[in-house]
Amino acid sequence: MTELSTHLIHHPYAPPAGFVAPQVGVYKASTVIFPNVAAMRSTEWKDKSGYTYGLHGTPTSFVLEERLCTLEGGRECLLVPSGLAAIANVALALLKTGDEVLIPDNAYGPNKTLAEGELKNWGISHRYYDAMNPADLAAKISPITKLVWLEAAGSVTLEFPDLAQLARICRQRGVTSALDNTWGAGLAFAPFDLDGAGLGVDVSIHALTKYPSGGGDVLMGSIITREPALGLRLKLCHMRLGLGVGANDVEAVLRALPSLVLRYAAHDRATRALVQWASQRPEFAQVLHPALADSPGHAHWKQLCGSETGSAAGLFSVIFHERFDGSHVDAFCDALRLFKLGYSWGGPMSLVVPYELASMRQVWPDHLAAGTLVRFSVGLESAADLQSDLQQALAAMV
Ligand SMILES: *Cc1c(COP(=O)(O)O)cnc(C)c1O
Repeated sequence: MTELSTHLIHHPYAPPAGFVAPQVGVYKASTVIFPNVAAMRSTEWKDKSGYTYGLHGTPTSFVLEERLCTLEGGRECLLVPSGLAAIANVALALLKTGDEVLIPDNAYGPNKTLAEGELKNWGISHRYYDAMNPADLAAKISPITKLVWLEAAGSVTLEFPDLAQLARICRQRGVTSALDNTWGAGLAFAPFDLDGAGLGVDVSIHALTKYPSGGGDVLMGSIITREPALGLRLKLCHMRLGLGVGANDVEAVLRALPSLVLRYAAHDRATRALVQWASQRPEFAQVLHPALADSPGHAHWKQLCGSETGSAAGLFSVIFHERFDGSHVDAFCDALRLFKLGYSWGGPMSLVVPYELASMRQVWPDHLAAGTLVRFSVGLESAADLQSDLQQALAAMV
């Protein structure tokens, strides 16, 4: 077996004797019974050699953790109640008073909000760097920098950074790097091997809420590492914070994983069709999607994700021409019928969000046109129907 799609279906789950069903059972527990006091004292939760308490794992959660390590190429996995909880777990495990965290200015917004809120209150400082300028990251790393966040593509604006170069800088400077790998989903590129020679990030977090769940009905996150000492630091923090996940939700993700490769490819295909169409429309000053030749960081995307036919997920954004003001853009969004107004992505239903980008960035990057930005998450509907929907909403907005 070599292909990931096969690995995601054939997993090492051992069903109960005499009941060889392929799907993993939903094992629910807080209490786990020990046969005697000696077993109770000696069972170790940290290395998964046994079961101690529902919060520290069940046969159901152990299988999902193993599958996600296969998906992302890691060795250890922690499950947490949301993608944001994964970000918080990493920050709380690795930072203390006096430390600094560096975050890309185009990072997932709530990562920045956590730094500006609790982390700041606890005496942990943060600085934002320009992910499209590795020299800016290198210049901002100082002796107090203890964690660098990476993200590809950038949140909302979808710039694609030179991820390998950013990871290399962190490695050279001895700073732990953590990647928000939600967009890549473990499919677009290998977070622990960015250059084909084993250069990787130290930590990969993933909002399983998006593509792995695939249904828009589960909130969950994962934290994946390769290095045992780092994995243990994250695990101890996870244990102290009591970040458990429900077995029914774990099972929902396990059910969806076998179709992940197909769904991701379908989202990608429909998105490219819409992006081609959108880039011809006069209403848009700019279309942002890493596979478009003039989208910021296209060359980095092409290099990391393999080729022009490499994966590019199911998100794209447009910046409306400046002649359209905010109320036109709101009217466009309100006129959409198939694209629903709502946060998140990765499910079957297409979604749209207008953003006040100026309030989300420290600086308006040179590579972005002026105007109002709208982000689309392309679902699994027919691409032709989605295009008609966009077309009728453009006609309706003026
Ligand atoms: C959605 C998202 C998250 C957070 O996931 P939740 O499960 O909604 O908390 C983190 N990072 C990225 C890039 C996301 O898109």
